[in-house]
Amino acid sequence: MADEEDLNPYRIAQRQTDEAARFLPDLDPGLIEFLKKPDRLTTVEFPIASSGGEVMNFVGYRALHSRARGPGKGGIRFHPDVTADEVRALATWMTWKCAVVDLPFGGAKGGVVCNPKELSAEDVRHLTRRFVAELHHTLGPFTDIPAPDVGTDPKTMAIIYDTFNALNPGQNNLGVVTGKPVRVGGSRGRVEATARGGLAVARRVIERELLQETSSVEGLSVAIQGFGNVGGIAALLFEEAGAKIIAASDSGGGIYDPDGLDATAVHDHKKKTGSVAEMEGSQAVSGDDLLTLECDILIPAALENQIRSDNVESLQTRMVLELANGPTTPDAAAHLRSSDVVVVPDILANAGGVTVSYFEWVQNNRNEQWDEDEVNERLERVMVRATDAVLAKHEEINESLDRLESQRQELDRGGDPLEPADLRMAAFALAIERVAEVVMDRGIWP
Ligand code: NAD
Repeated sequence: MADEEDLNPYRIAQRQTDEAARFLPDLDPGLIEFLKKPDRLTTVEFPIASSGGEVMNFVGYRALHSRARGPGKGGIRFHPDVTADEVRALATWMTWKCAVVDLPFGGAKGGVVCNPKELSAEDVRHLTRRFVAELHHTLGPFTDIPAPDVGTDPKTMAIIYDTFNALNPGQNNLGVVTGKPVRVGGSRGRVEATARGGLAVARRVIERELLQETSSVEGLSVAIQGFGNVGGIAALLFEEAGAKIIAASDSGGGIYDPDGLDATAVHDHKKKTGSVAEMEGSQAVSGDDLLTLECDILIPAALENQIRSDNVESLQTRMVLELANGPTTPDAAAHLRSSDVVVVPDILANAGGVTVSYFEWVQNNRNEQWDEDEVNERLERVMVRATDAVLAKHEEINESLDRLESQRQELDRGGDPLEPADLRMAAFALAIERVAEVVMDRGIWP
């Protein structure tokens, strides 16, 4: 039952790391303990003088999980449910994600406890500036680089850049933040990158015949939870690829049409009304019911802990493509592992965003601006290579389970005997191994 399940995202991230590390018995357990925790968590408490005339107070966090492979990298979230543990978890997942796609970045994440929908644009600007001013000594183009996440967008990134640049004049600071508007040094293709990367991964998984009797995305039915930057663009791109978007939801409600929604019309409706809910010609569906609709691909693209032990048995999908971070709890993941459902894990499925963020950072450091075609081609190559690497690790682990188990026993590693890994465990194992190798090559300080 859900109320018995531990939904703390940080403990979930640590549990996933522990579970995956079991497939890497050679790694020193002390090293795994180190890699499970962020290097630091900065908490800031600050006021703004609001547009309504009163002083408002906020709490914000920035977690830097690891810089072993390069500067910390990770988004900034503005949401009322932000907690220190959520930020720690998201920072940990960023380290593993950057390693899965083999970028020279570590992992970080930030957030401010606030509801941007209830704040004026001016207050959001004040809040962003003050948050960055409080943190600016820890951020930098070669130390820790933010990006957009839930509740923040390219405009927020422009303000982050402007604030950091005002406090650190006289140098090229464009690389301090990614996801900026294109005219402020952003990369073409960044806004679409997470969804586009997700489509590339889904296509590759299908090409590699993981989804039975299916050879293409064309004609597949897709349900999308969370019609924001990631989910809304996924709807357009999957529709363009020939899939049928049968349902979509956001925090205002959900809509369903078994014959297929028109993704552009859903966008227009949301622009006018603020939500996908109550679009003419569609049926209403609750957020919970959307998850259990019969479909080929279910795309969670909202928040953590949406697929849990209390609803996982009702899922009627063939593939879960995790475009949100942490949408599936470990108990639900264990249930899906023993079913036919293919779960494409977040640290692979949604890595397109950070991949194009890396391209943006490279363009900023070289004072270049690439064409969108070039960005998309490079993105496709990275996502296909990363998917192949995860599938190769998956095969490698599952073909050597007996050897890994005897190694574990010889080393007295404890715990239950190993069971076959799913794609999440393969992706985590690949990432942990890549980060651990760099830590050991560089040598633990001093
Ligand atoms: P966003 O704020 O643009 O969109 C989030 C959407 O989810 C909104 O439409 C919101 O209404 C909806 N939502 C919230 N609660 C919901 C609920 N209970 N049911 C249905 N919908 C709900 O944020 P985003 O940038 O699209 O991020 C979405 C997810 O993707 C997050 O998990 C984020 O961490 C992850 N992600 C984002 C990026 C990126 O580049 N923006 C990259 C990788 C991963």
